[in-house]
Amino acid sequence: MNNQPLDELRAKIDLVNKEILDAVNKRQSYIAEIGDVKSKQGVHRYDPVRERDMLNKLIAVNEGPLTDQELEYTFKEIFKVGLEKQEQSKKKELLVSRKRQPENTVVTINGVEVGNGKPAFVFGPCAVESFEQTSSVADKIKSKGLNLMRGGAFKPRTSPYDFQGLGVEGLEILDKVRKGSGLGVISEIVSPLDVEVACEHIDVIQIGARNMQNFELLKAVGKTNKPVLLKRGLAATIDEFIHAAEYILAQGNPNVILCERGIRTYEKATRNTLDLSAVPILKQETHLPVMVDVTHSTGRKDIMLPCAKAALAVGADGVMAEVHPDPAVALSDSAQQMDFEEFDAFWDELKAFAAK
Ligand code: PEP
Ligand code: MN
Repeated sequence: MNNQPLDELRAKIDLVNKEILDAVNKRQSYIAEIGDVKSKQGVHRYDPVRERDMLNKLIAVNEGPLTDQELEYTFKEIFKVGLEKQEQSKKKELLVSRKRQPENTVVTINGVEVGNGKPAFVFGPCAVESFEQTSSVADKIKSKGLNLMRGGAFKPRTSPYDFQGLGVEGLEILDKVRKGSGLGVISEIVSPLDVEVACEHIDVIQIGARNMQNFELLKAVGKTNKPVLLKRGLAATIDEFIHAAEYILAQGNPNVILCERGIRTYEKATRNTLDLSAVPILKQETHLPVMVDVTHSTGRKDIMLPCAKAALAVGADGVMAEVHPDPAVALSDSAQQMDFEEFDAFWDELKAFAAK
């Protein structure tokens, strides 16, 4: 059989393919230039009106045999490749991005470095309930040679009838305890109005899971230079988490620690599903320290230790867990806080594991 006509046609198609390739490449390089101009102007990159306009211009000069519908389909695919390129470069431009800053950010809390390659540990009660309760946990933490403590003064609770925390009085107790013990203290605030009082009384402002996308709060803490511990939202994607941190850095505060604390899934065996894969992803994508809260993620004291070890094994810069002198009478999260005896056993093993 004579294959010559077919071969000739295929050769012509190969040539056209090359022409299309050259044209698409040329288009991509113009897109890169447009991206630079737009980012200098600080404008959004995706412009659906411009896309419609380009399609209309092409339809107006279309001589076929491509139908207008086929034309739209073909060019939309080409536009998509250009947009993806722009999206990728936008990600690289984020202040939190590892591509923008290859070296790790180290956040210093009261002389303790978080993110320097040695794990940091934050223990303490769910809520500050009294000076005595808080200082007894502080003594326990100090007895282990540790230097950071947590304690909630403003508690975001599911029910408005549950204990809401002592508020500013709780921050004042933490201040007294930190002055007496020398520990660095971490506590959550839920309103931008409390940023100033928090800066006065504590060392790290925590933004809780329920407020991860409280943009006014993120901006308000971004205007300070206090270290911020930002927890992942209950149903936040990693991308949303990263962008929440970007809000803080964008206001000028580089001292952000990310904290994976479990996400909502269909699984009921744990309180939340601890997404340990988020740790190496966050470490790759950003230069910020990443901690793991094993209490609010698992909600189970019986698996906190292996989960804490796993967190360190996947590269977490630290672990957070709740400790209370008498969990049975705790005013919040009573079932999941470790008592001192449980904490002794937990810490002995975790310390040995971290030293390996
Ligand atoms: C907390 O750490 O006290 C807390 C409420 O955690 P989360 O915001 O992760 O639920
Ligand atoms: Mn709690």
